[in-house]
Amino acid sequence: MAERDIERWFTDQQTRKTRRLEACANKRWFATEAEARAAALWDRTQFGERLTSYSCDVCTGWHLTGGHRR
Ligand SMILES: [Zn+2]
Repeated sequence: MAERDIERWFTDQQTRKTRRLEACANKRWFATEAEARAAALWDRTQFGERLTSYSCDVCTGWHLTGGHRR
């Protein structure tokens, strides 16, 4: 791998890490998948939003992704 490619890869990894940290800080937090799924189901019945639960590798908790558009 060329040095330039390694630099690009490294920058890309840093960007992804920052995005994950920001997403983690801005999202609702759930201790378990069951809680996240319950919240997702609630949002679907209340607001018609389709959210997906995922385990977060930043805080080891669960968040929802999908619906919200601002
Ligand atoms: Zn998180």
